[in-house]
Amino acid sequence: MAPVIAAIFQEMSTWQLAVAWSAGYVALQFAERWAFRDILKPADLTSRRALVFLATILVSNISFAAFGLIEAYNGGTWGILAAGLLWSGALLNSALVSGSSQQALATAVAPPVLLFGTLPFFIVEAGGSLDAGLAILAGGLLNGIAVFAIWAGSRRLLVSAARERESARIALLDIDTGLPNRQAAERRVAERQRTFPDRRVIAAAIAINRFEHLHGAIGHGLMVALLREVAHRVATAHPAADVARLTARIIGAVWTAGDLEEARDALLRIQQAMKAPIMLGDYAVDVTVTIGLSDAADRSEAVPGADVRPLDRAMIAVDQAHAARVPIARFDPSLYGNPASNLSLMSDMLQALGNGQMSVHYQPQYDLGTGTVVAAEALIRWNHPLRGIIPPVQFVPMAEETGDIAAMTEWVLAQAIRDQRALAERGHSLAISVNFSGRLIADAEFATRVIDLAAGACGKLCLEVTETAIIGDPYVAAQTLQAFRTAGLSISIDDYGAGLSSLAYLKTIPADELKIDRAFVTNMAIDPTDRMLVRSAVDLGHSLGLRVVAEGVETMPALALLAAMRCDVAQGYLVARPMPVERLMDYLGDHRRAVLLSPPVEALAGAA
Ligand code: C2E
Ligand code: MG
Ligand code: MG
Repeated sequence: MAPVIAAIFQEMSTWQLAVAWSAGYVALQFAERWAFRDILKPADLTSRRALVFLATILVSNISFAAFGLIEAYNGGTWGILAAGLLWSGALLNSALVSGSSQQALATAVAPPVLLFGTLPFFIVEAGGSLDAGLAILAGGLLNGIAVFAIWAGSRRLLVSAARERESARIALLDIDTGLPNRQAAERRVAERQRTFPDRRVIAAAIAINRFEHLHGAIGHGLMVALLREVAHRVATAHPAADVARLTARIIGAVWTAGDLEEARDALLRIQQAMKAPIMLGDYAVDVTVTIGLSDAADRSEAVPGADVRPLDRAMIAVDQAHAARVPIARFDPSLYGNPASNLSLMSDMLQALGNGQMSVHYQPQYDLGTGTVVAAEALIRWNHPLRGIIPPVQFVPMAEETGDIAAMTEWVLAQAIRDQRALAERGHSLAISVNFSGRLIADAEFATRVIDLAAGACGKLCLEVTETAIIGDPYVAAQTLQAFRTAGLSISIDDYGAGLSSLAYLKTIPADELKIDRAFVTNMAIDPTDRMLVRSAVDLGHSLGLRVVAEGVETMPALALLAAMRCDVAQGYLVARPMPVERLMDYLGDHRRAVLLSPPVEALAGAA
């Protein structure tokens, strides 16, 4: 081998040799860099720095090789040493960007040792002087020492730089799923806004429905796998999107679209991608999502008095979609309200209970069997002196957040008991239902106060609790509800079907009544799916021994169908809208025995 190389050396001119050798050496450097690319991770190299780095290696290697070889042939020695030192400059650069590990050191030291160790031999073989060969050897050694010194000296620096790089990387990752996190997603929004000022940057929040329920059922490990799969499907459905995990249950997607129509197409694709069940091991899990959408650049989405960023808006839109019971919603600032005014509203609330701004309206409940109004639901109303009527969907959730819900509920209950007595004095004995927030269900002290208060009632009282509240902590809920029933209060499961209904939970809830959510009832006469769902809810309620109430009855055909399904009670605008107690007295005087259905109920039974 050696004689062959020596022969080649002899055939070539000095310059040819210099070029061939340096080219070979540079190739080796790059091959080495490629082979060890996992160890030599110039992670934070911007492309310009990477170019400078490569150019330094190239220039210093070529100059060393050319200069060194010519010198070697001419019998010079100092030139070789100088060239060797020049090359150390390139190694300094390479050590700094290579990283701190010992492998990085080895890959930096090996080439000089290898080449400087063998080259003198070839040079002497080819007729060069021994001095020149020794000089090259010395140059190689010097190089090795220099690299080691650089590595040892800068090691601490390199380690901390590597740590910094790593923590910067981790700060943008979600620890559970390894997906980019919310901060990373925020950055992507800002970057896209900078890069594409003329296009729309769309932020979408894809929330997994029934997350807590699923999490409880399948455990943390599988939930993480499920989230990863959801993120994967989003990325596959819309490859141009940046996907991240925004909160425990929300996957975010950020992309750039020409117009909202295009954005909507992408959303529909994402929604479609969730249709197939997700396989977790041997099990298939059906996952549905609710999507909130926001257009980063749209000023009309801006909320007065608050800096709500695009991803926040998308997440708020998820809540808005839930409230409107639709699968996809775009952020609506009018529903979000003005945060500053919300704040003042919260501070007004407690006072409002005492100063006559709050009142209770009653909505009659119509018994389909007897054709009489047998009960009424108490619904709170707030007539604000400056803002006018504020709907309960706006302030009840706020009261739940501030804790004022306890005072509010107690106030409504006390008012309902007074009104029930006033009604009885006018000859109308009526059961009254009062809404009982899920937030209060774990409060034992409050439960005692409710029971004490209810002891003073002259008629039947019913507490309406939503199933979502019960699922939060079914054991505590069951205990509280049982205590209420023992005290003579009846319990209604409100908004049945709207939340996380589960047959298993339903069985454990001590209740007397099942109230089917109006979302299914209102259109049941025209929507066969709704009709089927209502029918199965009625049957389910009856088989659990519960009285079944349908809320949101707006039309005669719906009422007729309910009667035919043997639903027990109907509540809705068709019967009457909620009204103050004085009006209710008049109403009962006129309509108590109103026969809403002209054909007898029995005759309708076959029609359903
Ligand atoms: P909810 O308990 O499900 O009350 C029924 C809601 O449906 C009432 O809205 C009622 O006005 C409305 N409604 C009745 N019939 C129809 C109909 O035929 N069609 C339609 N589209 N809607 C109908 P409201 O009074 O705005 O109350 C909304 C929610 O606010 C209530 O839902 C309840 O969750 C809550 N809420 C109201 N008053 C109180 C209260 O005193 N305490 C608590 N904790 N929550 C309350
Ligand atoms: Mg209710
Ligand atoms: Mg309801």
